[in-house]
Amino acid sequence: MAAHEIGEVLVQPEDLQRRVGELAERITADYAGRSLLLIGVLKGAMFFVSDLMRRLEVDCEVDFMAVASYGSQTSSSGVVRILKDLDGSIEGRDVLIVEDIVDSGLTLSYLLRTLRARDPASLEVCALLTKPERREVDLPIRYVGFEIENRFVVGYGLDHAERFRNLPYVAVLAGH
Ligand code: 5GP
Repeated sequence: MAAHEIGEVLVQPEDLQRRVGELAERITADYAGRSLLLIGVLKGAMFFVSDLMRRLEVDCEVDFMAVASYGSQTSSSGVVRILKDLDGSIEGRDVLIVEDIVDSGLTLSYLLRTLRARDPASLEVCALLTKPERREVDLPIRYVGFEIENRFVVGYGLDHAERFRNLPYVAVLAGH
């Protein structure tokens, strides 16, 4: 991995872990006595959902969805294609969508619409990162890890053309 490709580190590994722990504590309290279905959005949320799930102290299950947005690589068009759908039904379930990053919000808005139509008992969102400056649609994001500035970031699951997911921190891609 060429060091010159990675710019400023925005979130260090220990800060990621501390925040994941705090979110897990809140979610554990909010869902006490219920059974929770986590929906990890692939591939970006892979480490986030697995770290978060390990720290939850409520009865929980996990399922995965993979989506791709049509259009250019670094901006969302809001037209979303489901690459992999859930394995099971969410009807009557308490569902928590676990997302890597919410940028314009168009991808999440599509996911919320699609999943709401399947009649879950409740539907909330937990996003590791958000870029409030870029938001085009107002979305109810119940749990947020970090608000970041409007820069393209990689690491901790987030990629650029499939690379850099393995970085243990969240960093700006050099030149972005
Ligand atoms: P939105 O529809 O909210 O504009 O875009 C959401 C999707 O775009 C995210 O799930 C992610 O795949 C991608 N994305 C948005 N911003 C970034 C970023 O800074 N870094 C990376 N790696 N992906 C991003």
